[in-house]
Amino acid sequence: MFATTAYAMLLPAPRRQTRAVRIGHVTVGSGAPVMVQSMTNTDTADVVGTIEQVVALANAGSEVVRITVNSPEAAAAVAAIRDGLDQRHCNVPLVGDFHFNGHKLLRDYPDCAKALAKYRINPGNVGRGNKHDTQFAQMIEIACREGKPVRIGVNWGSLDQDLMGRLMDENSRLALPKSAQQVMRDALVASALESAALAEDVGLPGDQIILSCKVSDVQDLIAVYGDLAARCDYPLHLGLTEAGMGSKGIVASTAAMGILLQQGIGDTIRVSLTPEPGGDRTKEVIVAQEMLQTMGLRTFTPLVTACPGCGRTTSTFFQELAAKTQSYLRAQMPLWRASYPGVENMSVAVMGCVVNGPGESKLANIGISLPGTGELPVAPVYEDGKKTVTLKGDHIAEEFQALLDAYVERTYGQGSPGAALIVGDGASGQTDQRHPPSSAEPKVIPITIA
Ligand code: SF4
Repeated sequence: MFATTAYAMLLPAPRRQTRAVRIGHVTVGSGAPVMVQSMTNTDTADVVGTIEQVVALANAGSEVVRITVNSPEAAAAVAAIRDGLDQRHCNVPLVGDFHFNGHKLLRDYPDCAKALAKYRINPGNVGRGNKHDTQFAQMIEIACREGKPVRIGVNWGSLDQDLMGRLMDENSRLALPKSAQQVMRDALVASALESAALAEDVGLPGDQIILSCKVSDVQDLIAVYGDLAARCDYPLHLGLTEAGMGSKGIVASTAAMGILLQQGIGDTIRVSLTPEPGGDRTKEVIVAQEMLQTMGLRTFTPLVTACPGCGRTTSTFFQELAAKTQSYLRAQMPLWRASYPGVENMSVAVMGCVVNGPGESKLANIGISLPGTGELPVAPVYEDGKKTVTLKGDHIAEEFQALLDAYVERTYGQGSPGAALIVGDGASGQTDQRHPPSSAEPKVIPITIA
C-alpha cells in the first residue's frame, strides 16, 4: 500500500488550474501547453540586429520573445522592430522588459506600448518609498488602456527592499523567528501577490496577470513556487535566474523546473543560460523544448536516442551520425511541421553496436544499429520494429537520411496512416505517435549498397 502511494506521488501531477492569459495570439495557463519563451541579448535600439535575433529565436521554437526596453532609444525602436518582424511574417509576440523608468517610457512612447504584447514589471525596480505604488500604478494604467497583460516578475537580486525590511522587522518580533532564507522566500512571494493585488485594485483584470519569482538556487525556486502556486491562480512563469553557463546552467534549470513541472506547477518556462562569447542564443530555446519533450509534456522535434558509446565504438562515425541526424531533424522541422503533422512525435535511434542497437532501434520509429569494433561492417535499419534494409559502405549517413525522408513522407504525409492517427493539437505535444500502428508490412526501400 505504501509502495503504491509513494509511486503515485512520483507520477506527473495534473496541471494546476489557473486563469488563462492571452499574450497576443498565445495563451498561457488554464491547460494550455507549457509555453516556451526566451529573451534577446541585443541592444534593442539596434533594430536590424534585434529583428534578426527575434526571428532566430522564433524559428528555433520560442513562442514569445522578450526584449529589454531600458532607454528612450530602445522604446523608440520597438514599433519598428514589430513592423520588421511582421514584414518577415514572424508573428511572435514581443514582451517589453522594464526596470526603473518603465512608467516614463510607456507614457512617452505610446507606439512602444501598443507594439508590445505584454509588459514585464519588476516590483523591486519601480521606485522606492512613496514613488513605488504611484509608478507601478502608472504602468498598470497603461496596460489597462492598451488591453495588455503584464508579468509581475519578482527577482531575488532586486527584491523590493522596503518590503524585505518590513518582513524582517515583523520576523524579529516573533517568539520563534524564521531563518533569513525563509524570510527572503516569504518576501518574494509577498512581493508578487501584493503587487498582483495592487494591479487588480488599479483596474487590471486578473486574467491579464502572470507571476514569476526568480531565484538562482534550485531549492529556493522549488520552495517559492510551491508556496506561490498554493496561494493564487495566476499562471506562473518558471525560470531559474542567473542559471549560469554551459552544463551547469542546463542542469540547475532542469533540476529545479523539472520537479515543479512534475508537480503540475508552471505555465511558461524560460531557461536563462549565459551564452558562450559569440554563442548561439537559440540554445536556451532548444534546452527548454528538450526539457518539456523528455518529460513527456510536449513534443517539438523528433529526438535521437543514441547510446553513449563505449569500448565497442572505437571510431567517431557513430557520434558523428547521431549528431548529424539530430541536426538534420531540427533543421527540417520548420518545413516538416507544416507538411507532416505529427512528425514531431517520431523517435529515431542511432546506436553504436549489436549489444543494444537492434533492441533500441526496434523500439524507435526508425533506427540504425551501427557496427561496433570487430563486428561485420554492416548497419541494419529498423522501421516500426522490423528490419527493412542493411546498409554498408561509405555512404551510410546519406542513405540513412534518405530512408528517414522516405519514412516521414510515408508515415506523416497526406493520406498516410500516421497522419490520420494524429489526435489533438500537434503543437501542444499532447499526441504520442511512437510506433503508429501500421497494417501493412514496412516497405523496403531499395538502396544502392556501395
Ligand atoms: S550499444 Fe554497444 S556501443 Fe553503445 S554503449 Fe551499448 S555496448 Fe557500447
